[in-house]
Amino acid sequence: MLNIVLFGPPGAGKGTQSEKIIAKYHLTHLSTGDLFRKHLGEGTDLGRLAKKYMDEGRLVPDEVVIGMVEDKITHTKDTNGFIFDGFPRTVAQAEALDRLMGKNNIKISGMIALDVKEEILKERIRERGKTSGRSDDQDDSKIETRIRVYLDETLPVATYYEKQGKFTKINGVGTIEGIFEDIQKVIDKF
Ligand code: AMP
Repeated sequence: MLNIVLFGPPGAGKGTQSEKIIAKYHLTHLSTGDLFRKHLGEGTDLGRLAKKYMDEGRLVPDEVVIGMVEDKITHTKDTNGFIFDGFPRTVAQAEALDRLMGKNNIKISGMIALDVKEEILKERIRERGKTSGRSDDQDDSKIETRIRVYLDETLPVATYYEKQGKFTKINGVGTIEGIFEDIQKVIDKF
């Protein structure tokens, strides 16, 4: 089983590259941002709870995120593996994911981190905001908050996987195909 954590700041291209990885390796996409947006669209309690954090660009509390991920993992049968996109975003989430994987007798194959400079991220998010319909992509102060939250709370997750010898950084600037080629080289060694 191939279980990949696709890591990087907002706007790094995780969603775009996830689609390509899924098409080639037939993995199950587990994007916590997408799951929250689905709940929001369906008007569930979980969606209402997540909305106030998402609207401000802050992180939804760990226990809420972890519960939702556990539910998705335990209800997914017959898969080649998972691609985790936008999760884990805190060290507590990474630890919970290791526990969850252990419970299901599976493990993380490795983390791939997309490296993109802050100025380019902001431009990409604003550009995405023109068509994504996401209010958090359209407001400069929300974009700033999301990048700051990434640097303060999420970046330590890279160190967590580095300590386990599971961390690979990739240049996230270039053509979509070029970046995907670099990603495939890493995955094929997992
Ligand atoms: P994303 O689509 O990954 O950019 O996520 C959009 C928003 O959903 C984030 O700004 C957070 O408010 C929330 N969110 C998504 N994933 C997580 C996570 N793993 N932990 C906490 N909050 C999350």
